[in-house]
Amino acid sequence: MLVVLARHHHGGGSPPSEAFGFREDLLTRDYIRYAEDALVDAGVRVVVVSGVPYSTGKGVANTMDADVFVACHVNSGKYKTGCVFCPASSPEDHELASLVCTALGDSCPELERTRVWECKPGAWTDDALGTINRVVPPAICYEPFFINAVEHAALRHDEGLRRVGEALARGILEYLGA
Ligand SMILES: [Zn+2]
Repeated sequence: MLVVLARHHHGGGSPPSEAFGFREDLLTRDYIRYAEDALVDAGVRVVVVSGVPYSTGKGVANTMDADVFVACHVNSGKYKTGCVFCPASSPEDHELASLVCTALGDSCPELERTRVWECKPGAWTDDALGTINRVVPPAICYEPFFINAVEHAALRHDEGLRRVGEALARGILEYLGA
């Protein structure tokens, strides 16, 4: 089984988010390491694609015939919710998103709540959808916490990033039955 985890560069009008001296791309790098370790320990092959445009990460998942694709981010804004986005098109995407969302909530009591957002084209979720559309395997966009939420402070540090990464892995492993 193969999982592709994408840590995209944010180019153009969408730079990585920053707050309190933290940067999204670095926090993402750190929780991906924990996710990767947990997946590899469970016998799953992992490819991490870093610093690439959205289309490249998605292309890797498609050409390598991956079983799961995750676009990894850290959110920024006024909310305090852990979010997992999926395309509205298929039940497999939704099941993967639900399992990851539940694992995230179980691991991170700092989050006010966690929820799955099904992305329909033309809605406010288009930015998230752009990171996971046209992907053949089940795909989610993981936005586990808010970089600028005071309540999420612990999640910006190593122990919290471990929980965030291991929750992602746990949800994926449940989905894969691995
Ligand atoms: Zn992002």
